[in-house]
Amino acid sequence: MSSDSNIYVTQPNLPKLEDFVDLLKVIWDRKILTNGGPFHQQLEQALAEHLGVRHLALLTNGTIALVTALQALRIQGEVITTPYSFVATAHSLLWNGLEPVFADIDPHTCNLDPERIEAAITPRTTAIMPVHCYGNPCDVQAIQRIADTYGLKVIYDAAHAFGVQHRGTSLLNFGDLSVLSFHATKVYNTIEGGAIVCPDAKTKQRIDFLKNFGFADEVTVMAPGINGKLNEVQAAFGLLQLREVDAAIARRSEIAARYREALADIEGLALLPLPSDTTPNHSYMPLRVQAGFPLGRDALYQRLREQQVFSRRYFYPLISDMPMYRGLASAQPANLPVARQVAAEILCLPIYPALTDAQQQRVIDAIRSCCR
Ligand SMILES: *Cc1c(COP(=O)(O)O)cnc(C)c1O
Repeated sequence: MSSDSNIYVTQPNLPKLEDFVDLLKVIWDRKILTNGGPFHQQLEQALAEHLGVRHLALLTNGTIALVTALQALRIQGEVITTPYSFVATAHSLLWNGLEPVFADIDPHTCNLDPERIEAAITPRTTAIMPVHCYGNPCDVQAIQRIADTYGLKVIYDAAHAFGVQHRGTSLLNFGDLSVLSFHATKVYNTIEGGAIVCPDAKTKQRIDFLKNFGFADEVTVMAPGINGKLNEVQAAFGLLQLREVDAAIARRSEIAARYREALADIEGLALLPLPSDTTPNHSYMPLRVQAGFPLGRDALYQRLREQQVFSRRYFYPLISDMPMYRGLASAQPANLPVARQVAAEILCLPIYPALTDAQQQRVIDAIRSCCR
């Protein structure tokens, strides 16, 4: 088969090239390339409106946004987080000289288990950094209750949660801050990019200073900030993407429904339950390969590869197993049995708007052929 027949786990959305060229001409005329230019301001407004959040600061990527969010709230000491995520979640803590404390996850949501968060609190704990894994909401109420009881900040890594509605509002409105990634692989992308969602203008201003080296004005530097600015070309790209994102999520929803129907009756395969009181974004299609299926997870992963279907083991290995984390007391396997089990079972299937029905059928057939 040709490389055209390769089916990857995701494929980025692109705006129409002519539309992008039109906006590039505007940039060329204006000669404003970055530093909070007109498209940057326009995109911040448009995203806040689209997502239904009060304030939003654009950043150059999701990782710098996580690092900056921790600085914005002056987080110190220990931060409780999940081992079951992309490595950038924990890295953002190390970049701030903070100590990650890993707590175990709930097997149904793959998100931090509130009881395990509470059990991990010490006098040095100042914050919780949960992840809305696959865009499925954390138990936001229980986490807020713990934060209020112990006086902790909550910074959500919401990299997967673009556009998710929960309990009648944007999922991004929970916690003190929420951080988005607009990387090319995500539901909504600016090629590279990210954002911090915050509830008040004062925090947004602090983030805006921090992402511009800490400059509060021409002669005042308020903190050792970073260069975290999104440029005008990417902001223009993002404005065009925003027009398409609802349709993209609707198409993802169709694909997800078809997978659910086609894989429901296979022994040993389990899809994550749909979260209640939530409008999901179908950013990922996680499948758990369990006892009862003829192949183990890794064997299925290989078998799919042989048929040019490139699924991904998100998230394996656990962050807590990586060399820079595995020495921590909280990283020890006995502390994280559920995360370990899920990481050994999970496979994320191809899901993206351009995936054709025929391609999806190939993925389904490839999985079903293992049952015979
Ligand atoms: C993608 C991702 C990030 C990092 O975002 P970048 O924009 O790639 O820096 C952080 N956390 C999670 C959970 C992610 O999936």
